[in-house]
Amino acid sequence: MPAGTPPFGKILIANRGEIACRIARTARRLGVRTVAVYSDADADALHVCMADEAIAIGGAAPSDSYLLASRIIQVALDTGSEAVHPGFGFLSENAGFVEAVEAAGLVFIGPDAVAIAAMGDKIESKRLAEQAGVPVVPGDPSEITDADAAAASARRIGYPVMVKASAGGGGKGMRIARSDEELRQVFGSTVNEAKSAFGDGRVFIEKYIEEPRHIEIQTLADAHGNIVHLGERECSIQRRHQKVIEESPSPFVDEALRAEMGACAIALARAVSYRSAGTVEFIVDHARNFYFLEMNTRLQVEHPVTEMVTGLDLVEQMLRVAACEPLGFGQQDVRLDGWAIEARIYAERPERNFAPSIGRLKTFRPPAEDGSVRIDTGVVEGSEITMFYDPMIAKLAVHGATRGEARSRLAGALDRFAIGGVGHNIDFLAAIADSPRFAEGQLSTAFIDEEFPEGYDPAAGADRHQELFAAVAVVLARTEALAAGGADRRDWAVLLDGLSVSVAIEPDEEGLRLEVDGRTARLQGARPPSGTHLTGWFNSEAISVRVEEDGAGWRLSYRGVQAVVRVVPPHVAEFARFMPKKAPPDTSKVLLSPMPGLLVSLAVVEGETVEAGQALAVVEAMKMENVLHAERPGRIRSIPTAAGANLAADQPILYFE
Ligand code: ADP
Repeated sequence: MPAGTPPFGKILIANRGEIACRIARTARRLGVRTVAVYSDADADALHVCMADEAIAIGGAAPSDSYLLASRIIQVALDTGSEAVHPGFGFLSENAGFVEAVEAAGLVFIGPDAVAIAAMGDKIESKRLAEQAGVPVVPGDPSEITDADAAAASARRIGYPVMVKASAGGGGKGMRIARSDEELRQVFGSTVNEAKSAFGDGRVFIEKYIEEPRHIEIQTLADAHGNIVHLGERECSIQRRHQKVIEESPSPFVDEALRAEMGACAIALARAVSYRSAGTVEFIVDHARNFYFLEMNTRLQVEHPVTEMVTGLDLVEQMLRVAACEPLGFGQQDVRLDGWAIEARIYAERPERNFAPSIGRLKTFRPPAEDGSVRIDTGVVEGSEITMFYDPMIAKLAVHGATRGEARSRLAGALDRFAIGGVGHNIDFLAAIADSPRFAEGQLSTAFIDEEFPEGYDPAAGADRHQELFAAVAVVLARTEALAAGGADRRDWAVLLDGLSVSVAIEPDEEGLRLEVDGRTARLQGARPPSGTHLTGWFNSEAISVRVEEDGAGWRLSYRGVQAVVRVVPPHVAEFARFMPKKAPPDTSKVLLSPMPGLLVSLAVVEGETVEAGQALAVVEAMKMENVLHAERPGRIRSIPTAAGANLAADQPILYFE
């Protein structure tokens, strides 16, 4: 088929959110008509508006809508769709769905059912990888059924080990054990989690690689036996084994390693006669040994970084391959140009141990897209973030000629992003992007735990930006005062997180010359009426400082650091110098629920003595079970709650003596 001919007349997109929108975008560009399906909760969703047709398929819970294989296939038939794109999640890796789609005479835009089934099982796929000559994590690629066998296997492999659910995914169903004792503890809970989360209790054991990097190879194969790889993505910035920031290429991979890993990925794809886009995931140790983890037989969340460096549209490639077109290029044609980094924007509260956050997006203003900034999202201002679906609000991907340029674009774009109404992780992402270790490319899957050992504190590092924050506070206050008809003045006092800072200003034609506690600076910039940011120049640096009203002052955010500022009369500032710094509330005597949710179980009773780190209770929110641990040793005085209770955020669960 000549290039430019639409691969299909009409396709159904069996998904929602940003990925459904992203697929619709490419389909439209190719002249392919699209059918969206949606649940009751998504009647006004963006993916519904973006498609040419949209059909309601059921209730908000995925099991009542996006997971209803036969309903979705019926819609495809009724609307005259020729093919189904599954996106990721939901039915994308369900071999039974693929068979049903094909049995209905439709094309599945992805690999065949055999490849999906083989790769969907971690035990089976490890065996296949070994046979294909791909290095796998040392371990026991067989099912382990009891704790004794687990301990024997772990001793053979050597501690530390990981107990993994064969059917696991999304970072769930895996636990680390460093001794026989720990192994016996985690074995049962991994089996239970595997049964409840995946309906399959099979687990196996492999070596736990310390501080590895997660590096994956994107492959692309057509139905005629042509397979290429599109280089790697490094996804080592993870929280709870879930990716947070991804980039391509990897700062750790050179030409030789890329060629070696690429050849392994292609060998594995060939072993299962793979067709379509697929990703082979590896972990890589300090000595550049790489080990196969798993193959994802679908489009990945982080595929935009590969698109930005290769110039290819992976959804277009998937559509063309599904229409039996041969790949129009070979391995030697694949070029990696520059550097791309993606950050996942989640509805959560990093400052509260990443508790999920739901509600209406009162503000949603991403930075403007251009050749080097790309936003993938399924929401608009006013959309509702519900508890039914994945909490990812958007993906921000940037491109630069070098890693340094991409990183500074990422930091700038995060600064310009504004979200209000629900909690979000933009400042946390900005703090990562701004960290010296990230700049050096010293990545590992332990990065977040090591860089934020006490969790993320948005106020940490405010002293680094003290002059900027004080200067911005004065500009905001001065603009208000002048607008209200007040006289201009030279001397100002700012309370910055309770600390008093004096600022003297001198306006000139290029903005303001400032003296902040005696140090000189220059600020040029303003916040437009009802704007979310003060944008301009501070000294010689382009800045975007996010401004939110906060009582009598403002909350300012810049490069992942927040500060609350208030402009006060000088005598108040003088007084504030003698004020003790506000102590954080004493939480040593009480366990608070970090989020609204359901108290699933209590692991302790009144009068019990507990160790630091001991599990106290399990709270479920947004389909995630969160285990709450004791921060220090103590004795339980009283427990005013009971399992089954609905908890509000900050509600006391139990008290210590
Ligand atoms: P999932 O299917 O849930 O995504 P993966 O097997 O892909 O699970 O692993 C997810 C992440 O867990 C990896 O990126 C890595 O950070 C960590 N991980 C998995 N297996 C190991 C291991 N053997 N040693 C160290 N880390 C591991």
